Amino acid sequence: MNNPFQNAMSQLERATKIKKFDEKFLKILSQPNREIRISIPITMDNGKTELFEGYRVQYNNARGPYKGGIRYHQDTDINEVKALAFWMALKCAVANIPMGGGKGGITVNPKLLSKNELEKLSRGWIKLMAPVIGPKVDVPAPDVNTTPEIMSWMVDEYSKITGDKTNAVITGKPIAVGGSEGRGPATGLGGFYVFDIIRQKLGLPESCDIIIQGFGNVGGNAAEILTDHGHKIIAISDSKGAILKEDGIDIKALNEYKKTNGQIANFPGSKNITNEELLTTPCDVLIPAALENQITGKNAKEIKTQLIVELANGPTTPEADDILFERNIPVVPDILANAGGVTVSTFEWEQNIKGEHWKEEDVFAKLKKIMEEETEIIWNRSKELNTDIRRTAFVIALERIESAGLVHVID
Ligand code: GLU
Repeated sequence: MNNPFQNAMSQLERATKIKKFDEKFLKILSQPNREIRISIPITMDNGKTELFEGYRVQYNNARGPYKGGIRYHQDTDINEVKALAFWMALKCAVANIPMGGGKGGITVNPKLLSKNELEKLSRGWIKLMAPVIGPKVDVPAPDVNTTPEIMSWMVDEYSKITGDKTNAVITGKPIAVGGSEGRGPATGLGGFYVFDIIRQKLGLPESCDIIIQGFGNVGGNAAEILTDHGHKIIAISDSKGAILKEDGIDIKALNEYKKTNGQIANFPGSKNITNEELLTTPCDVLIPAALENQITGKNAKEIKTQLIVELANGPTTPEADDILFERNIPVVPDILANAGGVTVSTFEWEQNIKGEHWKEEDVFAKLKKIMEEETEIIWNRSKELNTDIRRTAFVIALERIESAGLVHVID
């Protein structure tokens, strides 16, 4: 498997060929400010003690506190977390929110833990990280396989340790403990606002045939929002399998089916397909909304779509980017397409600090404005720079981070 951090650094190098940046600044960005590794001991339900490896990478805080989710996955390792933390720094700059970039994780398959074990593990992560995070220092949030409930355990543990009751140390919490209205669908909705602008720029139809890889918080919400706006989801997958239904999948019915069956495979009226078939079936728009390294040098030639919108982080390798660029298939990069999640997280943080609770309609209106404005800025600049959307988004993010001026050089 490609090392995601190497991919991230290669994206950085490619963008800095389009526009020159100060060498000192680029050197600083080539490694995170800080990497923390922890071992979390848990007494399992069977009485045995297990150790789990956890991480927090604080990549860059020139623009504000480190910000980014915590991933629970069996394949999570320090290279993945470093890449994700780097992308967060750029993403927050693209969305122009006052945050830096960080990311956390635990190497674990949470589906194999009981609820009791999961809670102990989550509280354990916070206990060991409490000295290095905080509302003005580093603000974690959900990512793959972490939920509002997990965030509520974490914020509770943090307040027990520190006495801080602002709840602003963690975002993506349930509404009852200071969560924001609209945080759940925010990544999918933000992605929709971006997609809708790019769709019009490219002259794609009002009703597109769309394929989504992933049916978690991001893919599931995106599928529902796109269907509500008249688009057709013709194929979709979860971690256990993929399905195809050319006349369109009823997403609400699929949600119910998944709740009962624990998977989407064998959904009545659909055909089971492989992950490779999912990615290479003809469609108007392909939306990877799962993990990294899905569109690669191997399958990029076979992809038959008019537009790729990255709701996952890092789903396209640099090698695939080259092939897609040559084939004239635009890619809306993760750091723009999925920035809606961290944007509403930042609204949540702001509400907690000010002791406010905003209405859902106000949250969505603020999100829409940011996503649309930044999409326009990046689109127009890509024409000036005569390059793809990813390289342009990188250039804009780098300019914004550099102009924050705090590059932590020790002379
Ligand atoms: N995990 C999300 C991301 O990759 C959201 C992070 C946050 O809300 O801080 O952007």
